[in-house]
Amino acid sequence: MLELRPNCEHCNIDLAPSNTKAMICSYECTFCEDCALNILKNVCPNCAGGFCYRPIRPSQNLCNDNYLGKHPASTNQIFKPVDLDKHALFAAEINKTKPEDR
Ligand SMILES: [Zn+2]
Ligand SMILES: [Zn+2]
Repeated sequence: MLELRPNCEHCNIDLAPSNTKAMICSYECTFCEDCALNILKNVCPNCAGGFCYRPIRPSQNLCNDNYLGKHPASTNQIFKPVDLDKHALFAAEINKTKPEDR
């Protein structure tokens, strides 16, 4: 189950579970859309994978207790700003290969 982390790892903006611009890698490293695509160039600084938009967990109990009330979003903030000069070089190299071929 996704943790639904509360903030962008790079810029620390709030990313509530209902935020449609939250992006995650397969390890659930979590960034806002602007950081993930424009700053990080779709390369996760922690695992080199690409990002997808984080799915929304329903806030209402519409089906079998599978909702935020039963499985709440994480409140554990992870804030690890990326070294942008270093990441630019890393991302340029990694981006020679599409995420699905890495
Ligand atoms: Zn951000
Ligand atoms: Zn990652």
